Amino acid sequence: MNLADLINQAYEKEEKANPQKPRSYIGASIVGNPCEALIAFSLRGFPDSSIGYKLKRIFRDGHRIEDDVIRDIKKTGIAVMEKDPFTGKQWSFDGFGGHAVGHADGMLGPIDQDSKLLEIKSMNDNKFKEFSTKGVKYSHRHYYSQVQFMLGLGKLEECVFISYNKNNSEYHSEIIRYDEFYYNDLCAKVERVLNGEARKISNDPTDWRCRGCFKRDVCWEEKEVKQTMKTCKNYQPKLAGGWTCNLGCLEECQKWERFQPLPKTSNI
Ligand code: SF4
Ligand code: SF4
Repeated sequence: MNLADLINQAYEKEEKANPQKPRSYIGASIVGNPCEALIAFSLRGFPDSSIGYKLKRIFRDGHRIEDDVIRDIKKTGIAVMEKDPFTGKQWSFDGFGGHAVGHADGMLGPIDQDSKLLEIKSMNDNKFKEFSTKGVKYSHRHYYSQVQFMLGLGKLEECVFISYNKNNSEYHSEIIRYDEFYYNDLCAKVERVLNGEARKISNDPTDWRCRGCFKRDVCWEEKEVKQTMKTCKNYQPKLAGGWTCNLGCLEECQKWERFQPLPKTSNI
């Protein structure tokens, strides 16, 4: 018996029995992704490719570390609100009529009379060193985009971004201030996706950006998808929220056609 193999197999069995439901909105964590096709697939709830047991355990560890970091912050005497007191749920900010949503790790404070967004990330030693020397904007642009998007959606001024080094338990933090131009740029991207103008980042499935993409099965392999309104190319999201069928139908019909983002080089 090889216990390690048995654990890995148990993960695979678990995934088959309870496949994870993909999100069907534009999350703050993906809005900085350079591939707009990926954002469009997410908005429409296309299923993710399997991430495998190793990545699953890495994500699980990340969540566990977040709880520990919050406990450590509380030791300083700074107030942390992990949940929105009005909803009793995780802090959530939305825009574009609910098509775009950001979930926050918490709110800090008040510090200097203001509450601040809290974002926690655990990193390996290399990533941590990069972050602590260059700052998050230049070391982890996707995290920076995530924070700017949440600041913009939540109409907040500042975020405390803290990272935990998984190799040596060191902390490093920085304040990220709201950047209106950066946020507007992200909003323009969201609008292109909602308007059906999302393009693939590459026309080559072996491109390094596609190899690790969690939508690659639906993007390149044409993996079978459930025929729903959102996976139909005729279903058009409206900028202010809601959806409409371009053919004027009011409910799911026989004219379903699979949604496809535009290819990289298309001039349409
Ligand atoms: S596989 Fe490549 S082109 Fe397709 S969504 Fe992912 S990154 Fe974009
Ligand atoms: S009503 Fe039919 S054509 Fe329109 S979005 Fe739904 S499945 Fe597609």
